[in-house]
Amino acid sequence: MVNISRFTHIYDLGDAVALYHSLRMKPVYLTKNAFKGLQAWLASPFCDKIENAPEKIRTEIHELTKFKILTQNEFEDDKVLQFVKSKIPAPAVNVCYMILSEQCNLACKYCFLGNNDSAKRGNFLREDMSPEIANRAIDFFIRQIKASGLDVEGNKPVLIFYGGEPMINFKVLELVAARINKLRKKEQCIHNIEMSVVTNGLLLDQEKVRKLHDLGVAIAISVDGFSEKANSMRVDVAGQPVFLRILEKLNMCKAMGVDVSLSVTLSEETIRNTKDILKLVDVYGIKAFGFNIMMSSDTFVLPHSYNEAAAKFIIDEFIELRKRGIYEDRMMRKLKSFTNAQIYFSDCAATAGGQIVIAPNGQVGICHGCLHNKQYFIAHIDDDNFVAVKDKNFIEWSQITPVNHQECMNCPALGICGGGCPINAMHLKSGNTIHSIDERFCAHSKKTLEFFIKDLYRIINE
Ligand code: SF4
Ligand code: SF4
Repeated sequence: MVNISRFTHIYDLGDAVALYHSLRMKPVYLTKNAFKGLQAWLASPFCDKIENAPEKIRTEIHELTKFKILTQNEFEDDKVLQFVKSKIPAPAVNVCYMILSEQCNLACKYCFLGNNDSAKRGNFLREDMSPEIANRAIDFFIRQIKASGLDVEGNKPVLIFYGGEPMINFKVLELVAARINKLRKKEQCIHNIEMSVVTNGLLLDQEKVRKLHDLGVAIAISVDGFSEKANSMRVDVAGQPVFLRILEKLNMCKAMGVDVSLSVTLSEETIRNTKDILKLVDVYGIKAFGFNIMMSSDTFVLPHSYNEAAAKFIIDEFIELRKRGIYEDRMMRKLKSFTNAQIYFSDCAATAGGQIVIAPNGQVGICHGCLHNKQYFIAHIDDDNFVAVKDKNFIEWSQITPVNHQECMNCPALGICGGGCPINAMHLKSGNTIHSIDERFCAHSKKTLEFFIKDLYRIINE
């Protein structure tokens, strides 16, 4: 018998209907009449074979079968799921977060690392990364890339200087970046490595900006909008706002002609005003940035309405930004998956088993969200025999993907979601683990998929 797949979801588009298989990921658009014809045929005794489809909707039915929206036998759905699961990538390290310092000169109220919490803050290492540890960390990262066997042409390695506030330890940042540039010729696996620093910007000055630029280290500055109000969560350790000081730094980079990207955390105030971010983009000629959906924790609880509002904000901004030829990272990753009809297994490098985090004392972990308690820090740069991609923790993390979650099976966004953040999932409710669902992320994934399906229909009709 011909049936609608259990992975099929139906979207009402007013004058038409979209049918979408969450794992095959190609929407098929039907007129309302064709959809009624399909429903009538599926309810009739003649739907035993595709060949018996009524003449007037035969083309549509072939299309629906091609994209697995209709199944021809009871095993077809399971086969598709098995096939998709067989494609879950094995861990392969190509991203390194190098934590130059766990100390930070700010104490943002939403900090997911725990800088907003004196108990967690007290756990951060006081010693910054030394040049010796940094050198061994580089060697360790190179060993892990080699062991992963990745084709680095298609998977450029990435080194991110991170903290705390990485600019606190600028001397070591310079040393690392200079050595990496020297090694590019000798070590084929990092010949095309990309380096960036994620900073709150306050410690940037002209000399440092010039050096970063000359060393090929991209600068990402955290800012949450173009007003004091939107940035009210970003405060220094004395609780004083820092927005005006960040603007000075943006002005300085602009005057020097050095491009910066923005890392925008979507505070509740940020998402109240859709024009604010666009002003920032226009005034500072920003070409790239990423939105961060806020994470809740035991010390920072978000209202339920936040998730929906943040999801809507990201879509509204996407529509405006693409008019300027600017594409935000988070939406781009999903759009790529949707347009290529390719399953997006992980939304973060940690759940792809692709990321190592190196703490200032040389401990090696999976996620920088655990810096305050070093959970999932399971190795040290001096463990010559440690191979991340063969480690059971990295393998476990690499299997965290919606297609392995029973709760995700009926979700339309199954293919484009990538899951959210396991650390956030773990903190959402007591009893949760890294294998729980990051519900904060669901509104974003589902709304984004709905937007893509409707937007594609609009484009086809235009
Ligand atoms: S698990 Fe969460 S905090 Fe850690 S890298 Fe992934 S998204 Fe970031
Ligand atoms: S995490 Fe949420 S949005 Fe993503 S596939 Fe699962 S249920 Fe759907």
